[in-house]
Amino acid sequence: MARFDDLIAVVTGAGSGLGYATAQRLAEEGATVALLDLNLDAATTAAKKINSGQKSARAYSVDVGKWESVDKTVAKVISDLGQPDILVNCAGIGKFVRSELETQENWERIIGVNLTGTFLMCRSVLPGMIEKESGSIVNIASNAGLMGQPYSAAYCASKGGVVNLTRALAVEYRSRGVRVNAVAPGGMNTPMIDTWGFPEGASRKDFARIMSPLGNSEPAEIAALVAFIASSDGRYMVGQIVGMDGGITCG
Ligand code: NAP
Repeated sequence: MARFDDLIAVVTGAGSGLGYATAQRLAEEGATVALLDLNLDAATTAAKKINSGQKSARAYSVDVGKWESVDKTVAKVISDLGQPDILVNCAGIGKFVRSELETQENWERIIGVNLTGTFLMCRSVLPGMIEKESGSIVNIASNAGLMGQPYSAAYCASKGGVVNLTRALAVEYRSRGVRVNAVAPGGMNTPMIDTWGFPEGASRKDFARIMSPLGNSEPAEIAALVAFIASSDGRYMVGQIVGMDGGITCG
C-alpha cells in the first residue's frame, strides 16, 4: 500500500517547477492529483507526463489570486474527483525591484498570488476537509519569509504572510482533523528565477546571503519533504515551517 493510495491531492502551480515535481511525487505514491495552474497548457502537459504510468492526474485552470476562479475550480475538482485530502499551495511569483520604485500593480500582483492565493485555496478546500475530519495542507513559503532578501519587499512580505497564515490556520483547524504546515525552500532549480530580472544598480554582493554554498536544490528534493509532511508520516506536524534551504537561514 502506497502512502497516498485512495487520496485526492490538489497542487497549485503544478504546470512548472516545484508544483509539477510535487504532483509527480504524490501521484507516484498513489494519489489522484488535480494539477491547477494559471497556464492550462503547462498543467495539461504536466498531467499527461504523470499519466504515462498507472497514475491518475488531471489538469485545471485557475487564477489563485481571484476568489471566483478559486471557488469555481475547486468545485469542479470536487465534482470530478471528490473532496481533496491534500492541498499543496505552490503557485507563486516574484520579481526583483528597488522598493522606492515599486508599483501598485507589481505589489498587488505578488501579494495577491502568493498570500491571498494561498489563503483562498485553503478557504475553498477546508469545508470538505472539516466534514471528513481529515486533511493536510502544505503551503510553500520561502527563505524570504524568514529573513530579509534585498529588492524583494513584496515577495518577502507575501512569504512572511504565508508563514503566519499557516500558523493561524493550523491552530484554528488542528482539532478538526486538518493539519496545516509550510515548507520554506531556498533557491531551487526551477524556471522561476529567470523571471525575476536584476534591479538597476544592484551588486551581485547584495545577493550573497541568499546563495547557499551548496548551490540550489532540485524541486524533487523539496517535493519529497512536502510528501512526508502531507502523508500520515507527518501526523504530528502541525503549524510547522520547515526550512530546506542549504543553510541560508541558519546564521
Ligand atoms: P515556477 O516554476 O515559476 O512555477 C510556478 C507556477 O505557478 C507556474 O506554472 C505559474 O504559471 C503558476 N502561477 C503563477 N501565478 C499563478 C496564479 N495566479 N494562479 C495559478 N498559478 C499561477 O516556480 P517554482 O520555483 O516552482 O515556485 C514554486 C513555489 O516555490 C513558489 O511559491 C515560489 O515562491 C516558491 N519558492 C521558489 C524558490 C525558487 O528558487 N524557485 C525559492 C523559494 C520558494 P505561469 O508560468 O503561467 O506564471
